[in-house]
Amino acid sequence: MKNLGQEILMVGTGYVGLVTAVGLAELGHTVACNDIDPRRIEDLQNGIPPFLEPGVPELLRKGIDARRLSFSQNLAEAYSGQRYVCVAVQTPIGMDGKTDLSAVHTAVRGIARVVDRPTLVVIKSTVPVDVFSTLSMLPEVIESGHLTFIACPEFLAEGTAMWDFFHPRRTIVGSDNEEYSREIAGLFHGLGGSYVITDAKTAQLIKYSANTFLATRVAFINEISQICDQYSIDAHDVVTALTMDPRVGNTYLNPSIGFGGPCLPKDLAALIQCSTDRGVTTPLLSGVATQNIAHLQYRIDEMVRSLGDGRKVAVLGLSFKPDTDDVRNSFSLTIIQHLLDAGITVHAMDPHAIRAAARFLEHPELRYFDNVLAAAAGTDLQIFFTPWSQFGSLDLDRLAAVVARPNIYDCMRSISQTKAVEAGFAYHGVGQVNGGRTKPTFEVSDNPALH
Ligand code: NAD
Repeated sequence: MKNLGQEILMVGTGYVGLVTAVGLAELGHTVACNDIDPRRIEDLQNGIPPFLEPGVPELLRKGIDARRLSFSQNLAEAYSGQRYVCVAVQTPIGMDGKTDLSAVHTAVRGIARVVDRPTLVVIKSTVPVDVFSTLSMLPEVIESGHLTFIACPEFLAEGTAMWDFFHPRRTIVGSDNEEYSREIAGLFHGLGGSYVITDAKTAQLIKYSANTFLATRVAFINEISQICDQYSIDAHDVVTALTMDPRVGNTYLNPSIGFGGPCLPKDLAALIQCSTDRGVTTPLLSGVATQNIAHLQYRIDEMVRSLGDGRKVAVLGLSFKPDTDDVRNSFSLTIIQHLLDAGITVHAMDPHAIRAAARFLEHPELRYFDNVLAAAAGTDLQIFFTPWSQFGSLDLDRLAAVVARPNIYDCMRSISQTKAVEAGFAYHGVGQVNGGRTKPTFEVSDNPALH
């Protein structure tokens, strides 16, 4: 299956496209990248990544210096007869609630127009099940006659994307032609994990199932956290004991505000839509989507109660998770919008994501900061959203000294409750027992084995 040292064309240099291109170049392939965004291409030609992702800047520079990575806005210029063309363009949910495939269609049409020989088109984008039957019917594809579509869904997580590329749990390749699938799998030779060779529809459904399962876990534990609130139980204690059972596993079970970001909500909506198209009702998946929105509102209501009659709030952390500047569908922005709509002044802070957030959210009562103390100064409530590691080492006495009212709402346990209370803060942590009650006993210790 080993198929290294190949020439590859990558269409789309976003989080998936660039990380994959940089990783493939590091494996020894030569990757020509194409994107319709001229500014992005110019930056990449100069070795500047368009987003924050640990490990990318170094490997990008290395690939460029080794002449294994190149960037062009012109697809025809980037094409030099490569047998392998990857598509990693966006697939958002459109206004009609269905997956907007316009970027995929445009990319595929462009590829069909430029290629002049048999070509394997590897779809890295997350696409609806059975989309290849539609792609195959595009006039340009029929006219070209050179394209074979292969599904190779992506499982990277932003913030650890480069690490994920080099340590896949599984590489999934789906097509009607087993030989072609093996060829594509061979491009990733040496990365470890398992190869799964299957048909395209199965590959596409695996991707949706993976993300909707993770979303279900988040919704589940958030529902449990609401029950915990009513009984003054620390939801994190429940999680600690729950995840000791290997049948449960220990990821995506942190009480939170809900799942946002560029993938989980959209892939959940897309799978529900794929199912509806085939007459399948999805009460569980629909319930997950409903729970997620209801839970966000439940937590926002808590924040508003914590604010009381205060009029100024600091929202600390804007990206949907740490180690990325991606704010797409970040609930931080939803919270800010909610506060602004209620006439509250918001000081928004993030170490890396201000530029990205400002593209989505501008308002006379909204100011951006890259420093926690400056953002928190004079505020009545300090909402810690993204759990950036720097928040954990904050000097809480200094923070207490600059705020109007020491009053923390902690979405993801960025701050120690004990230290916050010691520094004089009123503290409300999601999934924690709040309000100064004594913490009930929760002790974990070893029980020696019989043998
Ligand atoms: P993105 O928005 O970061 O990047 C898409 C890129 O494609 C942009 O740079 C855009 O300019 C470019 N593009 C759009 N149309 C083009 C065209 N016709 N020709 C050339 N370039 C074009 O998107 P992303 O986050 O990398 O996601 C890409 C796909 O991968 C989506 O389907 C997504 O669901 C999936 N995915 C994303 C992640 C993630 O964590 N971001 C993880 C797994 C899978």
